Amino acid sequence: MVVLLIGRAPYTRLSSDYGKVSESTANQRFEEEEYFQRQGWPWDETLYFTDNDLSASKYATKPRPGYLDLLAAIRTGRVELILITEVSRLFRNLADAVELLNLVRATPLRWVETTGGARYDLTTVQGEHNLLEAVVGASRESGNTSDRVKRGKRANARAGYWPGGARPYGYMRVPVVNEDGVIEPGHFTLQPIPAEVAVVDEIRVRVLDGEGLSRIASDLTERGIPSAKGKSWHRATIRQLLEAPALRGVRSHHGTEYPATWPAIISPEDWKRIQFLLSDEARHLGAASKGVRSYLLTGFAECGVSVAEGQLCGAMLRGARTRAGVETTYRRRYRCERNNNYGAAVGCGALVRLADPVELAVSEAVLARYEGEDLAELVAPDAPEELHELAASLGEDGRRLEQASRDRYRRKGDPLRLEEGQFLAIQAEIKEAMELTKRRMARLEQGRALAEIPVGMTLRQAWDAADLGWRRTILSLVVAKVVLYPSAPGRRVWPAEISPLIKRAEALGGPWNFDPSRIDIKWKL
Ligand SMILES: [Zn+2]
Repeated sequence: MVVLLIGRAPYTRLSSDYGKVSESTANQRFEEEEYFQRQGWPWDETLYFTDNDLSASKYATKPRPGYLDLLAAIRTGRVELILITEVSRLFRNLADAVELLNLVRATPLRWVETTGGARYDLTTVQGEHNLLEAVVGASRESGNTSDRVKRGKRANARAGYWPGGARPYGYMRVPVVNEDGVIEPGHFTLQPIPAEVAVVDEIRVRVLDGEGLSRIASDLTERGIPSAKGKSWHRATIRQLLEAPALRGVRSHHGTEYPATWPAIISPEDWKRIQFLLSDEARHLGAASKGVRSYLLTGFAECGVSVAEGQLCGAMLRGARTRAGVETTYRRRYRCERNNNYGAAVGCGALVRLADPVELAVSEAVLARYEGEDLAELVAPDAPEELHELAASLGEDGRRLEQASRDRYRRKGDPLRLEEGQFLAIQAEIKEAMELTKRRMARLEQGRALAEIPVGMTLRQAWDAADLGWRRTILSLVVAKVVLYPSAPGRRVWPAEISPLIKRAEALGGPWNFDPSRIDIKWKL
């Protein structure tokens, strides 16, 4: 006797819907194989069914051999789940769906699932209802279109094409030409530019030799070599260049990597070593010299320029390297910007403060604040476990909220439909619960950060050794915000020569012409 195991059946179908040809069955299948892999399900080739429906119209009754085989497999009790990329792949019309639902009672079939994560439990009235709604629902087309776009992008990544956007340094963007010498519309790849490849090579060798990024950057700028955007080089430019996966011949898409259609210009082994050197550098250098995310107070610092009687500007300050007046080098500064990246008005644009003395003064105040505290009391025990629970309940609440908004827009007369008043009450209740969860998570995160201080190290020693993210966490535990006022006219050198801070200031390029009383820290609690 042959015992057949009950399994999961992936199904694909090529068709033309509303004049548009569906994604190829090869792509659908790839999608499904990936889904099986993610779920850890074994792929059973005897349960894979496929149809080419291209010539059949929406109302066609042309038999689908693959689909009929699938129904046969269901009838013999071999299928408990059907996987498709979208519901419209499985059913051509409502009659198909009803036929399938009729099989549920007499067979082990229970689930219809899509690679987009929709799961229909056919043994429940709700699941049946939702599946039928997905087949006929008006929202189906728009929802699926965005899914299709996403899958199209993934297919593009799998093929190793360049997605478009700014080119990586070292390459130019060129159209893909197929074997017949014909240009494939909409598909691009990359071609190395010899002059730039030579520069990448030089950077690679120098970084592997342990040379600092700033030195390499200023040297390249001095020699008049243009960067990808034709401008001067900074450590951030070089870091970005070295972190681009394209350079080792890889196309990455949402964290998954595919072999690219272009050649690598840095070997995978060198690339790995370089990433290690870069991350090491980030860990050991102080915040002041770390490049891209080097501003301790981003998100905390606000503009204190008074814009009207008793009213401050209040805009969030941005960190940027700028050059003022007669300065010959760019220096880190916080400044109030008139417009954001999208051109919307956000601030007065009248405030600029040097970042180093501001950060030093705020750091000192934070450390002094902690000196009176019992750190052990702030450290949360067993945080990871509770964090997991909180994250789970946050996800659960998010799904409840989604379900509520779906029920709000059900047809009139549907017993599951929520009226406006009911919906608003439910929404408010869920949102409040989520807010509470988020606050508890934040508290735990902070406690965990403190727990990371090595035994025997004071907070101050840890502060000096730690990276920017950790400092920001510690800061956020006690600081609500930091208001920077415009500096008052007059000269005041800070810190003074006899100050205990002078050594730290000197290491940062100080002392400065700076008045720390023009900073206002708003403490939490
Ligand atoms: Zn402002």
